[in-house]
Amino acid sequence: MTTHGEVNRCPRCRARPILDLGALSRTTRDDGAEIVVCGHCGDLEAFTEEGGWLAPFTEWPLSPERLAAEERMWYAVMQHARYDGRA
Ligand SMILES: [Zn+2]
Repeated sequence: MTTHGEVNRCPRCRARPILDLGALSRTTRDDGAEIVVCGHCGDLEAFTEEGGWLAPFTEWPLSPERLAAEERMWYAVMQHARYDGRA
């Protein structure tokens, strides 16, 4: 999945490279095939899935506005999250 000789870019954000093994997307293609995304998108997918607004892969690559909205919400929630070892 190399594009123009570049390193593999994440298909979800088209911004970050996929390093090492990347993260397994929470979405799959039509036939159930797994999709690998960058670690950052893996975190955002986990967050948005929990919130019920996970973007399907058919919307990829997500717009900068959508990605920024996800990050904005992530920070808003995580700044108030407890890190005490309990879920
Ligand atoms: Zn990504």
